[in-house]
Amino acid sequence: MEPFTAGLISFEQALDTLLARITPLQDAETLPLPAAAGRIAARPVTSPIDVPPFDNSAMDGYALRMADLTGAPLPVAGTVLAGAPWQGEWPTGSCLRIMTGAPIPPGCEAVVMQEQTQQQEERIILTAAVSAGQNIRRAGEDIRQGNVVLQAGQRLGPAELPLLASLGVADVAVVRPLRVAILSTGDELQSPGQPLAPGQIYDTNRFAVHLMLNKLGCEVIDLGIIRDDPAALRAAFIEADTVADVVISSGGVSVGVADYTRQMLEELGEVAFWKLAIKPGKPFAFGRLANSWFCGLPGNPVSAVLTFYQLVQPLLAKLAGQQGAALPPRQRVRASGPLKKSPGRLDFQRGVLSRAEDGSLQVASSGHQGSHVFSSYQHANCFIVLERERGNVEAGEWVEVEPFNALLES
Ligand code: AMP
Ligand code: MG
Repeated sequence: MEPFTAGLISFEQALDTLLARITPLQDAETLPLPAAAGRIAARPVTSPIDVPPFDNSAMDGYALRMADLTGAPLPVAGTVLAGAPWQGEWPTGSCLRIMTGAPIPPGCEAVVMQEQTQQQEERIILTAAVSAGQNIRRAGEDIRQGNVVLQAGQRLGPAELPLLASLGVADVAVVRPLRVAILSTGDELQSPGQPLAPGQIYDTNRFAVHLMLNKLGCEVIDLGIIRDDPAALRAAFIEADTVADVVISSGGVSVGVADYTRQMLEELGEVAFWKLAIKPGKPFAFGRLANSWFCGLPGNPVSAVLTFYQLVQPLLAKLAGQQGAALPPRQRVRASGPLKKSPGRLDFQRGVLSRAEDGSLQVASSGHQGSHVFSSYQHANCFIVLERERGNVEAGEWVEVEPFNALLES
């Protein structure tokens, strides 16, 4: 008899196939900095200025010329403030009081911090040795004019946008938002807020996918719930294909009698693959419609979110031209309790990663791992990734964990 897992492609092969097919969008738009938050840089940005733009003091203290350091107390000839370059006389044998960020006055070779001086009337005595150049931040020491400060493909957040602001850059070219059409399939589905008829359940997936797409900065076109009817599905797919870069459905992608998703994808486009050796999430279809990419998520909500996270998220990142979104970090930790696993598929169990009393990291199952038990995400903070051929895991065995990224954080 053919094993249950025959004909399934591996997770790695699926991800490679999918990423190999996707080429980044080229459409860019220019936005003022605050509006560019969360977006992806379409082009590299070079600095129009040196940073810092002029030599300046790193301390509140006194500006010195080395030749004036004879050991005698130094009279203070004036004060240099931030934003006000020194324009007065600086007599030989004296020093200038200087504030952090103030321009270094001509001839100054070092700044001594205030804490390393003693004041005697209008003079100061140095209480520590001084070396030439100390406490002076040099022009261009951080960034030189013309240096590339941001690569194309970087997501713009609190580390990147203030950096651009510090260079006087007011707007930035970003990739336009991806347009993603979503729909749920299933005669049994009802929208929250409506009463449930016998046999109905509430649509979880469309809501979950919508939220995750919002987090990723996509424009969402919500086509609602589509009945398990080939004509209705065909019409929805055609509509979605005309408006979206990516179409994401859920349900109907398995081998049930009302599962029309794959059939429709074959009719209107092309199926690249649709059966994965992963758990949860075995039925996941990837392919193309006439104008858009297509992802058919499994109907079970745990599987829908898992496959969105593990496969659609990298797809969208690549399509949006995002760099550095390569493999998510994983680490090996000990399981603090047993984990159920049958050989044959790569398992992504929901886990709780925590610190044991001895300070080491440990992971436990977040509870019932059924692909319909959506609450298993609620207390979890990582995926426990169990190798395809592995069986049950005993407490104390090493397992690989992948902490959730911001997509699954509250
Ligand atoms: P299917 O792949 O369409 O056979 O669906 C598999 C299971 O997931 C069934 O129990 C469906 O009722 C359930 N399901 C499908 N779509 C959704 C959805 N959008 N929200 C919650 N459960 C769903
Ligand atoms: Mg269904």
